[in-house]
Amino acid sequence: MGEKLLDVKNMKTSFYTHVGEVQAVRGVSFGLNKGEALGIVGESGSGKSVTSMSIMGLLQYPGKVKEGEIFFKNEDLTKKSSNEMMNIRGDQIAMIFQDPMTSLNPVYTIGNQIIEAIVRHQDVDKKEARVKAIDMLRLVGIPSPEKRVDNYPHEFSGGMRQRAMIAIALSCQPDLLIADEPTTALDVTIQAQILELIKELKDKMDTSIILITHDLGVVADVCSRIIVMYGGLIMEEGTAEQVFYEPTHPYTMGLLKSVPRMDVNEKQRLLPIPGTPPDLVKPPAGCPFSARCPYTMKICLEQAPDYTYVKPDHRAACWLLHEDAPHTDVDTGVKREGIE
Ligand code: SF4
Repeated sequence: MGEKLLDVKNMKTSFYTHVGEVQAVRGVSFGLNKGEALGIVGESGSGKSVTSMSIMGLLQYPGKVKEGEIFFKNEDLTKKSSNEMMNIRGDQIAMIFQDPMTSLNPVYTIGNQIIEAIVRHQDVDKKEARVKAIDMLRLVGIPSPEKRVDNYPHEFSGGMRQRAMIAIALSCQPDLLIADEPTTALDVTIQAQILELIKELKDKMDTSIILITHDLGVVADVCSRIIVMYGGLIMEEGTAEQVFYEPTHPYTMGLLKSVPRMDVNEKQRLLPIPGTPPDLVKPPAGCPFSARCPYTMKICLEQAPDYTYVKPDHRAACWLLHEDAPHTDVDTGVKREGIE
């Protein structure tokens, strides 16, 4: 067992809007070890991005972490002031977003933006910071970094801008990098290059990673552990192998059927999950997936299921895993009496 870097305990985040309290995250608990890469997967509205914004302390009004604890290096981030959080961000925890153009300032050169991040968090002068900025651009694979450091964001392609964002994020050697849909805006070949880069840098710099995405294919290669979120809750958590090859939650199974897989024969039909995510102003009393699940039972509508640990490191919230669940032909991956 590695050293624990992040420990999120029963975190609940809501947005207090004019239509009511939107319960975006409704009690999630998970941990992250040093040097580990964790994928958080789910559709939009599942609560995955709100989870990361809550950890970063970047929630804007009317959003609020209303309950729970977020321990980072054994200190509860929910107790930190906004100034303390500002110092932690960019120094110990960094984040990259989907669209680098919205995060990069168009009126400053790429180099100036990296230098600013370095000078803010490290005890170096601008000259040293410029040398470091060039080194970072080289590290993330920008060609001719000595020249490119003086380019403006519009002179970079989409893939290069995301590389520059990664350079800024990693310039202070953070302990944790949160990447929220980092490849969604990029075309497929560039996507693969950026994911490869994130993987490489994780190993080189020993940075822990949380990779947030709606695309299971994106986490497959980078993350050793995966959390599947739906309706503001964690539906399933396991190693990448467990989630991909032994999924136990109908939502995970649905997600897997909706993405192309290399390990399935050529005639694989992609099946979308019918229906829409639940209204989080009035979340369902029972399982949040009950309106879309092909196996919904009476109890699913009435009571939210607890987690069943199918292995010590593999859990899912589904009544089908309960020892008294009736026989179904769904392969939950769990052997129960009477079920072959
Ligand atoms: Fe489906 Fe019920 Fe399991 Fe929810 S608890 S995923 S509705 S079977």
